[in-house]
Amino acid sequence: MKVDKKDKILVVDDMAINLELIKSVLGKDGKYSLVTVTDGVSAIRKAKTNNFDLILLDIMMPGMDGYEVCKILKSYPTTKDIPIIFLTALNDPKNIQKAFQFGAVDYISKPFSKEELTARVNLHISLKHTTEELIKAKRAAESAAEAKAIFLANMSHELRTPMNGIIGMVDILKRTPLTDAQREYLSIIESSGENLLTIINDILDLSKIEAGHMELENIPFSLKEELTRVMNILQVIADKKKLPLVLKIADGVPPYVSGDPVRLKQIIINLVNNAIKFTDKGSVTVSVEKKGVEDGKVQLLFKVMDTGIGISPEGQKKLFQSFSQVDKSTTRKYGGTGLGLMISKNLTHMMGGEIGVESVEGVGSTFWFYVYLDVSDEESYKKQNETEQQSDLTKKRIQLKLHILLAEDNKINQKVATLNLNNLGHDVDVANNGKEAVEMFKNGNYDIIFMDVHMPEMDGVEACKKIREIEKKENRIKKIPIIAMTANTSEDERKKYLEAGMDGYVAKPFKQKELIEIFTQFAV
Ligand code: ADP
Repeated sequence: MKVDKKDKILVVDDMAINLELIKSVLGKDGKYSLVTVTDGVSAIRKAKTNNFDLILLDIMMPGMDGYEVCKILKSYPTTKDIPIIFLTALNDPKNIQKAFQFGAVDYISKPFSKEELTARVNLHISLKHTTEELIKAKRAAESAAEAKAIFLANMSHELRTPMNGIIGMVDILKRTPLTDAQREYLSIIESSGENLLTIINDILDLSKIEAGHMELENIPFSLKEELTRVMNILQVIADKKKLPLVLKIADGVPPYVSGDPVRLKQIIINLVNNAIKFTDKGSVTVSVEKKGVEDGKVQLLFKVMDTGIGISPEGQKKLFQSFSQVDKSTTRKYGGTGLGLMISKNLTHMMGGEIGVESVEGVGSTFWFYVYLDVSDEESYKKQNETEQQSDLTKKRIQLKLHILLAEDNKINQKVATLNLNNLGHDVDVANNGKEAVEMFKNGNYDIIFMDVHMPEMDGVEACKKIREIEKKENRIKKIPIIAMTANTSEDERKKYLEAGMDGYVAKPFKQKELIEIFTQFAV
Protein backbone atom coordinates (compact mmCIF):
# COMPACT_ATOMS: atom_id res chain seq x y z
CA MET A 1 0.00 0.00 0.00
CA LYS A 2 1.16 3.51 -0.76
CA VAL A 3 1.24 5.52 2.42
CA ASP A 4 3.22 8.59 1.62
CA LYS A 5 1.92 9.29 -1.88
CA LYS A 6 -1.51 10.43 -3.00
CA ASP A 7 -3.25 8.32 -5.60
CA LYS A 8 -3.40 10.09 -8.96
CA ILE A 9 -6.64 10.26 -10.91
CA LEU A 10 -7.08 11.61 -14.43
CA VAL A 11 -10.54 13.01 -15.16
CA VAL A 12 -11.51 13.44 -18.83
CA ASP A 13 -14.68 15.38 -19.71
CA ASP A 14 -15.41 18.02 -22.31
CA MET A 15 -17.76 19.87 -19.94
CA ALA A 16 -15.89 22.14 -17.54
CA ILE A 17 -18.79 22.06 -15.12
CA ASN A 18 -18.53 18.26 -14.76
CA LEU A 19 -14.81 18.53 -14.12
CA GLU A 20 -15.40 21.09 -11.39
CA LEU A 21 -18.02 18.92 -9.75
CA ILE A 22 -15.83 15.79 -9.76
CA LYS A 23 -12.88 17.77 -8.44
CA SER A 24 -14.94 19.13 -5.59
CA VAL A 25 -16.23 15.64 -4.64
CA LEU A 26 -13.00 13.63 -4.95
CA GLY A 27 -10.63 16.41 -3.95
CA LYS A 28 -12.52 17.13 -0.75
CA ASP A 29 -10.54 15.17 1.83
CA GLY A 30 -7.17 15.50 0.07
CA LYS A 31 -6.84 11.75 -0.55
CA TYR A 32 -6.43 12.04 -4.28
CA SER A 33 -4.38 14.20 -6.59
CA LEU A 34 -6.58 15.12 -9.57
CA VAL A 35 -5.59 16.07 -13.11
CA THR A 36 -8.30 17.23 -15.50
CA VAL A 37 -8.40 17.47 -19.31
CA THR A 38 -11.22 18.26 -21.71
CA ASP A 39 -10.38 16.11 -24.78
CA GLY A 40 -9.19 12.63 -25.79
CA VAL A 41 -5.84 13.62 -27.32
CA SER A 42 -4.74 15.48 -24.18
CA ALA A 43 -5.96 12.55 -22.08
CA ILE A 44 -3.68 10.12 -23.93
CA ARG A 45 -0.72 12.50 -23.75
CA LYS A 46 -1.16 13.00 -20.01
CA ALA A 47 -1.73 9.29 -19.31
CA LYS A 48 1.47 8.32 -21.09
CA THR A 49 3.68 10.65 -19.09
CA ASN A 50 2.04 10.40 -15.67
CA ASN A 51 1.60 7.36 -13.56
CA PHE A 52 -2.15 7.43 -12.96
CA ASP A 53 -3.90 5.05 -10.61
CA LEU A 54 -7.32 5.55 -12.17
CA ILE A 55 -8.95 7.30 -15.14
CA LEU A 56 -12.51 8.66 -15.17
CA LEU A 57 -13.41 8.92 -18.84
CA ASP A 58 -16.39 10.63 -20.45
CA ILE A 59 -17.75 8.79 -23.49
CA MET A 60 -19.34 11.50 -25.58
CA MET A 61 -16.73 14.08 -26.46
CA PRO A 62 -16.10 16.06 -29.63
CA GLY A 63 -13.22 14.71 -31.76
CA MET A 64 -12.08 11.49 -30.21
CA ASP A 65 -14.75 9.78 -28.12
CA GLY A 66 -14.20 7.88 -24.88
CA TYR A 67 -14.24 4.42 -26.51
CA GLU A 68 -11.44 5.42 -28.89
CA VAL A 69 -9.36 6.90 -26.06
CA CYS A 70 -9.87 3.73 -24.03
CA LYS A 71 -8.81 1.53 -26.96
CA ILE A 72 -5.59 3.49 -27.45
CA LEU A 73 -4.76 3.51 -23.73
CA LYS A 74 -5.26 -0.27 -23.56
CA SER A 75 -2.77 -0.74 -26.40
CA TYR A 76 0.19 1.00 -24.72
CA PRO A 77 2.27 -1.05 -22.28
CA THR A 78 2.59 1.88 -19.85
CA THR A 79 -1.12 2.73 -19.78
CA LYS A 80 -2.81 -0.61 -20.39
CA ASP A 81 -3.09 -1.52 -16.72
CA ILE A 82 -4.63 1.74 -15.51
CA PRO A 83 -8.23 1.01 -14.51
CA ILE A 84 -10.73 3.10 -16.49
CA ILE A 85 -14.23 4.03 -15.29
CA PHE A 86 -16.55 5.44 -17.94
CA LEU A 87 -18.74 8.41 -17.15
CA THR A 88 -21.80 8.13 -19.29
CA ALA A 89 -25.22 9.51 -19.89
CA LEU A 90 -25.75 6.63 -22.35
CA ASN A 91 -27.38 4.24 -19.97
CA ASP A 92 -28.73 1.58 -22.34
CA PRO A 93 -27.35 -1.98 -21.95
CA LYS A 94 -25.68 -1.87 -25.37
CA ASN A 95 -23.49 1.08 -24.49
CA ILE A 96 -22.66 -0.35 -21.10
CA GLN A 97 -21.67 -3.65 -22.71
CA LYS A 98 -19.51 -1.75 -25.21
CA ALA A 99 -17.75 0.07 -22.35
CA PHE A 100 -16.74 -3.25 -20.77
CA GLN A 101 -15.69 -4.68 -24.13
CA PHE A 102 -13.27 -1.78 -24.54
CA GLY A 103 -11.65 -2.72 -21.25
CA ALA A 104 -13.37 -0.47 -18.68
CA VAL A 105 -13.54 -1.81 -15.13
CA ASP A 106 -16.78 0.04 -14.30
CA TYR A 107 -19.14 2.83 -15.36
CA ILE A 108 -20.93 5.64 -13.56
CA SER A 109 -24.16 7.04 -14.96
CA LYS A 110 -24.60 10.74 -15.34
CA PRO A 111 -25.94 12.59 -13.51
CA PHE A 112 -24.06 10.82 -10.74
CA SER A 113 -24.55 10.92 -7.01
CA LYS A 114 -21.55 12.11 -5.00
CA GLU A 115 -21.70 9.03 -2.78
CA GLU A 116 -21.70 6.63 -5.70
CA LEU A 117 -18.78 8.41 -7.38
CA THR A 118 -16.73 8.35 -4.17
CA ALA A 119 -17.58 4.73 -3.37
CA ARG A 120 -16.73 3.42 -6.84
CA VAL A 121 -13.49 5.38 -7.09
CA ASN A 122 -12.40 4.22 -3.61
CA LEU A 123 -13.24 0.63 -4.50
CA HIS A 124 -11.25 0.57 -7.74
CA ILE A 125 -8.25 2.35 -6.25
CA SER A 126 -8.13 -0.20 -3.46
CA LEU A 127 -8.61 -3.07 -5.92
CA LYS A 128 -5.71 -1.75 -7.97
CA HIS A 129 -3.44 -1.68 -4.93
CA THR A 130 -4.47 -5.17 -3.90
CA THR A 131 -3.78 -6.48 -7.40
CA GLU A 132 -0.37 -4.81 -7.43
CA GLU A 133 0.49 -6.31 -4.07
CA LEU A 134 -0.62 -9.75 -5.26
CA ILE A 135 1.41 -9.51 -8.44
CA LYS A 136 4.45 -8.43 -6.43
CA ALA A 137 3.97 -11.27 -3.95
CA LYS A 138 3.51 -13.78 -6.76
CA ARG A 139 6.66 -12.59 -8.51
CA ALA A 140 8.65 -12.74 -5.29
CA ALA A 141 7.37 -16.24 -4.54
CA GLU A 142 8.13 -17.42 -8.06
CA SER A 143 11.64 -16.05 -8.08
CA ALA A 144 12.31 -17.40 -4.59
CA ALA A 145 11.07 -20.86 -5.63
CA GLU A 146 13.12 -20.73 -8.81
CA ALA A 147 16.22 -19.56 -6.92
CA LYS A 148 15.75 -22.33 -4.37
CA ALA A 149 15.35 -24.96 -7.08
CA ILE A 150 18.44 -23.76 -8.93
CA PHE A 151 20.43 -23.57 -5.71
CA LEU A 152 19.43 -27.08 -4.69
CA ALA A 153 20.15 -28.48 -8.13
CA ASN A 154 23.59 -26.82 -8.18
CA MET A 155 24.37 -27.82 -4.63
CA SER A 156 23.39 -31.42 -5.22
CA HIS A 157 25.57 -31.45 -8.29
CA GLU A 158 28.50 -29.94 -6.41
CA LEU A 159 28.03 -32.45 -3.59
CA ARG A 160 27.71 -35.38 -5.91
CA THR A 161 30.98 -34.77 -7.75
CA PRO A 162 33.23 -35.27 -4.70
CA MET A 163 30.96 -38.07 -3.46
CA ASN A 164 31.61 -39.98 -6.65
CA GLY A 165 35.30 -39.45 -6.00
CA ILE A 166 35.01 -40.81 -2.45
CA ILE A 167 32.97 -43.86 -3.43
CA GLY A 168 35.16 -44.59 -6.44
CA MET A 169 38.35 -44.37 -4.37
CA VAL A 170 36.93 -46.65 -1.68
CA ASP A 171 36.13 -49.14 -4.41
CA ILE A 172 39.73 -49.07 -5.62
CA LEU A 173 41.13 -49.25 -2.09
CA LYS A 174 38.98 -52.30 -1.35
CA ARG A 175 40.83 -54.26 -3.99
CA THR A 176 44.23 -53.67 -2.35
CA PRO A 177 45.74 -55.81 0.44
CA LEU A 178 44.14 -54.78 3.74
CA THR A 179 43.94 -55.94 7.34
CA ASP A 180 40.54 -57.04 8.64
CA ALA A 181 40.21 -53.87 10.70
CA GLN A 182 41.01 -51.69 7.68
CA ARG A 183 38.48 -53.59 5.60
CA GLU A 184 35.83 -52.96 8.26
CA TYR A 185 36.63 -49.23 8.45
CA LEU A 186 36.48 -49.03 4.69
CA SER A 187 33.08 -50.70 4.55
CA ILE A 188 31.80 -48.10 7.04
CA ILE A 189 33.09 -45.29 4.79
CA GLU A 190 31.49 -47.05 1.82
CA SER A 191 28.03 -47.44 3.33
CA SER A 192 28.12 -43.92 4.80
CA GLY A 193 29.09 -42.60 1.38
CA GLU A 194 26.31 -44.51 -0.31
CA ASN A 195 23.76 -43.29 2.25
CA LEU A 196 24.89 -39.73 1.74
CA LEU A 197 24.63 -40.14 -2.02
CA THR A 198 21.06 -41.44 -1.65
CA ILE A 199 20.13 -38.38 0.40
CA ILE A 200 21.73 -36.05 -2.14
CA ASN A 201 19.87 -37.80 -4.95
CA ASP A 202 16.59 -37.51 -3.01
CA ILE A 203 17.10 -33.79 -2.49
CA LEU A 204 17.91 -33.39 -6.17
CA ASP A 205 14.78 -35.34 -7.16
CA LEU A 206 12.56 -33.31 -4.88
CA SER A 207 13.98 -29.99 -6.08
CA LYS A 208 13.44 -31.16 -9.66
CA ILE A 209 9.84 -32.09 -8.88
CA GLU A 210 9.16 -28.82 -7.08
CA ALA A 211 10.64 -26.78 -9.92
CA GLY A 212 8.53 -28.73 -12.43
CA HIS A 213 11.67 -30.04 -14.14
CA MET A 214 10.97 -33.72 -13.52
CA GLU A 215 9.87 -35.46 -16.70
CA LEU A 216 8.55 -38.99 -16.97
CA GLU A 217 9.50 -41.39 -19.74
CA ASN A 218 6.93 -43.34 -21.68
CA ILE A 219 8.49 -46.62 -22.80
CA PRO A 220 7.03 -50.12 -23.07
CA PHE A 221 8.18 -52.52 -20.37
CA SER A 222 7.30 -55.87 -18.84
CA LEU A 223 5.83 -55.37 -15.38
CA LYS A 224 6.79 -58.84 -14.20
CA GLU A 225 10.39 -58.44 -15.33
CA GLU A 226 10.84 -55.03 -13.73
CA LEU A 227 9.15 -56.05 -10.49
CA THR A 228 11.16 -59.26 -10.22
CA ARG A 229 14.37 -57.36 -10.86
CA VAL A 230 13.66 -54.81 -8.15
CA MET A 231 12.53 -57.49 -5.68
CA ASN A 232 15.78 -59.39 -6.20
CA ILE A 233 17.78 -56.30 -5.25
CA LEU A 234 15.59 -55.61 -2.22
CA GLN A 235 15.80 -59.26 -1.14
CA VAL A 236 19.51 -58.69 -0.40
CA ILE A 237 18.54 -56.04 2.18
CA ALA A 238 15.66 -58.17 3.56
CA ASP A 239 18.02 -61.16 3.91
CA LYS A 240 20.09 -59.22 6.45
CA LYS A 241 17.01 -59.20 8.71
CA LYS A 242 15.94 -62.69 7.63
CA LEU A 243 12.66 -61.30 6.27
CA PRO A 244 10.96 -63.08 3.37
CA LEU A 245 9.93 -60.77 0.52
CA VAL A 246 6.86 -61.91 -1.41
CA LEU A 247 5.68 -60.65 -4.82
CA LYS A 248 2.07 -61.24 -5.91
CA ILE A 249 0.93 -60.25 -9.39
CA ALA A 250 -2.85 -60.74 -9.69
CA ASP A 251 -4.55 -62.24 -12.74
CA GLY A 252 -5.60 -59.61 -15.23
CA VAL A 253 -2.55 -57.37 -14.81
CA PRO A 254 -1.39 -56.68 -18.38
CA PRO A 255 2.03 -58.22 -19.01
CA TYR A 256 3.23 -55.18 -20.98
CA VAL A 257 2.59 -51.55 -20.08
CA SER A 258 4.09 -48.27 -21.15
CA GLY A 259 5.36 -45.64 -18.73
CA ASP A 260 8.44 -44.78 -16.70
CA PRO A 261 9.75 -48.04 -15.19
CA VAL A 262 12.62 -46.31 -13.35
CA ARG A 263 10.32 -43.91 -11.49
CA LEU A 264 7.73 -46.63 -10.82
CA LYS A 265 10.46 -48.76 -9.29
CA GLN A 266 11.66 -45.77 -7.28
CA ILE A 267 8.27 -45.63 -5.52
CA ILE A 268 8.34 -49.37 -4.84
CA ILE A 269 11.95 -49.22 -3.59
CA ASN A 270 11.06 -46.37 -1.19
CA LEU A 271 8.07 -48.25 0.23
CA VAL A 272 9.76 -51.64 0.48
CA ASN A 273 12.91 -50.12 2.01
CA ASN A 274 10.73 -48.54 4.70
CA ALA A 275 8.80 -51.77 5.21
CA ILE A 276 12.04 -53.69 5.75
CA LYS A 277 13.45 -50.94 7.97
CA PHE A 278 10.44 -50.91 10.30
CA THR A 279 9.84 -54.69 10.43
CA ASP A 280 11.79 -57.12 12.62
CA LYS A 281 9.80 -60.32 12.16
CA GLY A 282 7.13 -61.61 9.82
CA SER A 283 7.36 -60.67 6.14
CA VAL A 284 7.01 -57.97 3.53
CA THR A 285 4.62 -58.51 0.63
CA VAL A 286 4.33 -56.51 -2.58
CA SER A 287 1.16 -56.99 -4.61
CA VAL A 288 -0.23 -55.51 -7.79
CA GLU A 289 -3.74 -55.76 -9.21
CA LYS A 290 -5.71 -54.23 -12.06
CA LYS A 291 -8.50 -51.91 -10.93
CA GLY A 292 -9.86 -50.96 -14.34
CA VAL A 293 -9.13 -49.56 -17.79
CA GLU A 294 -9.91 -45.98 -18.87
CA ASP A 295 -9.11 -44.56 -22.33
CA GLY A 296 -6.49 -47.24 -23.04
CA LYS A 297 -4.86 -46.66 -19.67
CA VAL A 298 -4.84 -49.34 -17.03
CA GLN A 299 -5.25 -48.43 -13.38
CA LEU A 300 -2.86 -50.54 -11.33
CA LEU A 301 -3.03 -50.75 -7.55
CA PHE A 302 0.19 -51.60 -5.75
CA LYS A 303 0.38 -52.55 -2.07
CA VAL A 304 3.40 -52.93 0.17
CA MET A 305 2.38 -54.78 3.31
CA ASP A 306 4.57 -55.30 6.35
CA THR A 307 4.23 -56.84 9.80
CA GLY A 308 6.33 -54.16 11.49
CA ILE A 309 5.96 -51.50 14.16
CA GLY A 310 2.97 -49.78 12.51
CA ILE A 311 2.13 -46.08 12.66
CA SER A 312 -0.22 -44.32 15.10
CA PRO A 313 -3.22 -42.40 13.68
CA GLU A 314 -1.48 -39.06 14.58
CA GLY A 315 1.69 -40.29 12.93
CA GLN A 316 -0.19 -41.21 9.76
CA LYS A 317 -1.40 -37.61 9.45
CA LYS A 318 2.20 -36.37 9.27
CA LEU A 319 3.22 -38.71 6.47
CA PHE A 320 3.82 -37.70 2.84
CA GLN A 321 5.16 -34.26 3.75
CA SER A 322 8.73 -33.06 3.16
CA PHE A 323 11.18 -33.80 5.95
CA SER A 324 8.41 -35.38 8.00
CA GLN A 325 9.00 -38.32 10.23
CA VAL A 326 6.54 -39.82 12.63
CA ASP A 327 8.51 -38.85 15.73
CA LYS A 328 12.01 -37.87 16.73
CA SER A 329 12.80 -41.19 18.37
CA THR A 330 12.11 -42.92 15.03
CA THR A 331 14.73 -40.70 13.41
CA ARG A 332 17.24 -41.47 16.12
CA LYS A 333 16.68 -45.19 15.93
CA TYR A 334 16.16 -45.74 12.21
CA GLY A 335 17.72 -42.67 10.52
CA GLY A 336 16.34 -41.35 7.23
CA THR A 337 15.49 -37.94 5.86
CA GLY A 338 11.72 -38.12 5.58
CA LEU A 339 11.90 -37.41 1.84
CA GLY A 340 11.06 -40.85 0.47
CA LEU A 341 7.29 -40.70 0.92
CA MET A 342 7.11 -37.11 -0.35
CA ILE A 343 8.95 -38.06 -3.54
CA SER A 344 6.75 -41.16 -3.91
CA LYS A 345 3.63 -39.02 -3.51
CA ASN A 346 4.77 -36.60 -6.20
CA LEU A 347 5.69 -39.40 -8.57
CA THR A 348 2.32 -41.13 -8.15
CA HIS A 349 0.57 -37.81 -8.82
CA MET A 350 2.63 -37.39 -11.98
CA MET A 351 1.38 -40.84 -13.04
CA GLY A 352 -2.21 -39.75 -12.41
CA GLY A 353 -2.53 -41.65 -9.14
CA GLU A 354 -2.73 -41.41 -5.37
CA ILE A 355 -0.85 -42.86 -2.44
CA GLY A 356 -2.00 -43.70 1.09
CA VAL A 357 -1.53 -45.90 4.13
CA GLU A 358 -3.49 -48.14 6.44
CA SER A 359 -1.71 -49.04 9.60
CA VAL A 360 -2.20 -50.45 13.10
CA GLU A 361 0.47 -49.83 15.70
CA GLY A 362 2.29 -53.01 16.67
CA VAL A 363 0.61 -54.98 13.87
CA GLY A 364 1.94 -53.53 10.65
CA SER A 365 1.37 -51.13 7.77
CA THR A 366 0.06 -51.34 4.25
CA PHE A 367 1.23 -48.57 1.98
CA TRP A 368 -0.80 -48.50 -1.23
CA PHE A 369 -0.61 -46.46 -4.39
CA TYR A 370 -2.24 -46.57 -7.76
CA VAL A 371 -1.05 -45.20 -11.09
CA TYR A 372 -2.35 -45.10 -14.63
CA LEU A 373 -0.14 -46.64 -17.31
CA ASP A 374 -0.68 -47.15 -21.03
CA VAL A 375 -1.38 -50.74 -22.01
CA SER A 376 1.34 -51.98 -24.35
CA ASP A 377 2.12 -55.23 -26.21
CA GLU A 378 4.93 -57.68 -26.76
CA GLU A 379 5.80 -56.29 -30.18
CA SER A 380 6.42 -52.71 -28.97
CA TYR A 381 8.29 -54.07 -26.00
CA LYS A 382 10.57 -56.18 -28.20
CA LYS A 383 11.25 -53.23 -30.46
CA GLN A 384 12.24 -51.12 -27.46
CA ASN A 385 14.46 -53.90 -26.16
CA GLU A 386 16.22 -54.23 -29.50
CA THR A 387 17.25 -50.55 -29.40
CA GLU A 388 18.42 -51.00 -25.85
CA GLN A 389 20.40 -54.07 -26.80
CA GLN A 390 21.97 -52.13 -29.64
CA SER A 391 23.13 -49.40 -27.29
CA ASP A 392 24.44 -52.13 -24.98
CA LEU A 393 26.41 -53.37 -27.95
CA THR A 394 27.88 -49.92 -28.46
CA LYS A 395 28.76 -49.84 -24.79
CA LYS A 396 30.45 -53.23 -25.13
CA ARG A 397 32.35 -52.08 -28.18
CA ILE A 398 33.76 -49.10 -26.37
CA GLN A 399 34.83 -51.37 -23.60
CA LEU A 400 38.07 -51.80 -25.52
CA LYS A 401 41.00 -50.79 -23.36
CA LEU A 402 42.19 -47.39 -24.57
CA HIS A 403 45.50 -45.72 -23.85
CA ILE A 404 44.62 -42.19 -22.81
CA LEU A 405 46.74 -39.09 -22.32
CA LEU A 406 45.23 -36.74 -19.76
CA ALA A 407 46.62 -33.19 -19.62
CA GLU A 408 45.46 -31.49 -16.43
CA ASP A 409 47.30 -29.37 -13.86
CA ASN A 410 44.87 -29.58 -10.90
CA LYS A 411 45.77 -32.57 -8.72
CA ILE A 412 42.21 -33.32 -7.58
CA ASN A 413 40.85 -33.03 -11.10
CA GLN A 414 43.63 -35.36 -12.24
CA LYS A 415 42.52 -37.95 -9.72
CA VAL A 416 38.80 -37.61 -10.51
CA ALA A 417 39.33 -37.85 -14.27
CA THR A 418 41.81 -40.72 -13.93
CA LEU A 419 39.44 -42.56 -11.66
CA ASN A 420 36.54 -42.09 -14.04
CA LEU A 421 38.57 -43.25 -17.01
CA ASN A 422 40.03 -46.19 -15.08
CA ASN A 423 36.54 -47.15 -14.01
CA LEU A 424 35.65 -47.41 -17.67
CA GLY A 425 38.56 -49.83 -18.06
CA HIS A 426 41.10 -47.52 -19.71
CA ASP A 427 44.78 -46.79 -19.02
CA VAL A 428 45.66 -43.18 -18.25
CA ASP A 429 48.94 -41.25 -18.31
CA VAL A 430 48.89 -37.79 -16.79
CA ALA A 431 50.65 -34.68 -18.10
CA ASN A 432 50.81 -31.71 -15.70
CA ASN A 433 50.75 -29.03 -18.38
CA GLY A 434 50.64 -28.49 -22.15
CA LYS A 435 54.37 -28.75 -22.58
CA GLU A 436 54.52 -32.15 -20.90
CA ALA A 437 51.52 -33.26 -22.95
CA VAL A 438 53.32 -32.46 -26.23
CA GLU A 439 56.43 -34.35 -25.09
CA MET A 440 54.42 -37.36 -23.96
CA PHE A 441 52.46 -37.38 -27.22
CA LYS A 442 55.75 -37.47 -29.19
CA ASN A 443 57.08 -40.41 -27.25
CA GLY A 444 53.93 -42.35 -26.51
CA ASN A 445 51.31 -44.21 -28.43
CA TYR A 446 47.94 -42.86 -27.37
CA ASP A 447 44.40 -43.46 -28.64
CA ILE A 448 42.91 -40.16 -27.43
CA ILE A 449 43.93 -37.02 -25.53
CA PHE A 450 41.84 -35.24 -22.90
CA MET A 451 43.18 -31.71 -22.66
CA ASP A 452 42.44 -29.19 -19.94
CA VAL A 453 42.31 -25.70 -21.45
CA HIS A 454 43.81 -23.55 -18.68
CA MET A 455 47.21 -24.87 -17.67
CA PRO A 456 50.52 -23.25 -16.64
CA GLU A 457 53.57 -23.21 -18.96
CA MET A 458 51.56 -24.08 -22.06
CA ASP A 459 47.78 -24.00 -22.25
CA GLY A 460 45.60 -26.60 -23.93
CA VAL A 461 44.96 -24.66 -27.11
CA GLU A 462 48.67 -24.06 -27.69
CA ALA A 463 49.52 -27.69 -26.92
CA CYS A 464 46.87 -28.86 -29.38
CA LYS A 465 48.31 -26.67 -32.14
CA LYS A 466 51.79 -28.08 -31.46
CA ILE A 467 50.52 -31.67 -31.62
CA ARG A 468 48.78 -31.01 -34.95
CA GLU A 469 52.04 -29.52 -36.32
CA ILE A 470 53.99 -32.62 -35.28
CA GLU A 471 51.40 -34.87 -36.97
CA LYS A 472 51.74 -32.86 -40.15
CA LYS A 473 55.53 -32.86 -40.10
CA GLU A 474 55.69 -36.58 -39.53
CA ASN A 475 52.99 -37.24 -42.14
CA ARG A 476 50.92 -39.24 -39.66
CA ILE A 477 47.86 -40.62 -41.42
CA LYS A 478 45.65 -40.90 -38.37
CA LYS A 479 45.09 -37.72 -36.40
CA ILE A 480 44.72 -38.34 -32.68
CA PRO A 481 41.35 -37.21 -31.27
CA ILE A 482 41.88 -34.31 -28.84
CA ILE A 483 39.03 -33.48 -26.49
CA ALA A 484 39.00 -30.21 -24.57
CA MET A 485 38.02 -30.45 -20.90
CA THR A 486 36.52 -27.20 -19.86
CA ALA A 487 34.20 -25.54 -17.39
CA ASN A 488 33.55 -22.85 -19.98
CA THR A 489 31.04 -24.02 -22.55
CA SER A 490 30.31 -20.77 -24.36
CA GLU A 491 29.92 -20.91 -28.12
CA ASP A 492 32.94 -18.60 -28.65
CA GLU A 493 35.24 -20.72 -26.55
CA ARG A 494 34.15 -23.90 -28.26
CA LYS A 495 34.84 -22.36 -31.64
CA LYS A 496 38.33 -21.44 -30.47
CA TYR A 497 39.04 -25.05 -29.48
CA LEU A 498 37.82 -26.45 -32.77
CA GLU A 499 39.83 -23.88 -34.72
CA ALA A 500 42.93 -24.90 -32.79
CA GLY A 501 42.39 -28.45 -34.07
CA MET A 502 40.50 -30.08 -31.24
CA ASP A 503 37.79 -32.58 -32.10
CA GLY A 504 35.31 -32.02 -29.32
CA TYR A 505 34.91 -30.96 -25.76
CA VAL A 506 33.54 -32.26 -22.52
CA ALA A 507 32.22 -29.92 -19.87
CA LYS A 508 33.68 -30.16 -16.36
CA PRO A 509 32.73 -31.77 -14.07
CA PHE A 510 31.93 -34.55 -16.50
CA LYS A 511 29.84 -37.63 -15.98
CA GLN A 512 30.71 -41.14 -17.12
CA LYS A 513 27.86 -41.03 -19.60
CA GLU A 514 29.44 -38.05 -21.36
CA LEU A 515 32.78 -39.80 -21.50
CA ILE A 516 31.14 -42.87 -23.02
CA GLU A 517 29.56 -40.63 -25.66
CA ILE A 518 32.96 -39.12 -26.46
CA PHE A 519 34.49 -42.60 -26.85
CA THR A 520 31.66 -43.73 -29.10
CA GLN A 521 32.13 -40.68 -31.27
CA PHE A 522 35.90 -40.41 -31.48
CA ALA A 523 37.78 -43.43 -30.29
CA VAL A 524 35.99 -46.45 -31.74
P1 ADP B 1 12.61 -41.77 5.75
O1 ADP B 1 12.28 -43.19 5.87
O2 ADP B 1 13.77 -41.47 4.85
O3 ADP B 1 12.75 -41.04 7.05
P2 ADP B 1 10.03 -41.52 4.47
O4 ADP B 1 9.37 -40.34 3.88
O5 ADP B 1 10.23 -42.69 3.59
O6 ADP B 1 11.42 -41.00 5.04
O7 ADP B 1 9.22 -41.97 5.74
C1 ADP B 1 8.81 -41.02 6.67
C2 ADP B 1 8.47 -41.67 8.01
O8 ADP B 1 7.30 -42.47 7.91
C3 ADP B 1 9.52 -42.60 8.54
O9 ADP B 1 10.56 -41.93 9.19
C4 ADP B 1 8.69 -43.44 9.52
O10 ADP B 1 8.51 -42.73 10.73
C5 ADP B 1 7.35 -43.55 8.82
N1 ADP B 1 7.21 -44.81 8.06
C6 ADP B 1 7.33 -44.97 6.73
N2 ADP B 1 7.10 -46.25 6.35
C7 ADP B 1 6.84 -46.93 7.48
C8 ADP B 1 6.52 -48.30 7.75
N3 ADP B 1 6.44 -49.21 6.78
N4 ADP B 1 6.30 -48.65 9.04
C9 ADP B 1 6.38 -47.73 10.02
N5 ADP B 1 6.67 -46.42 9.83
C10 ADP B 1 6.91 -46.01 8.58
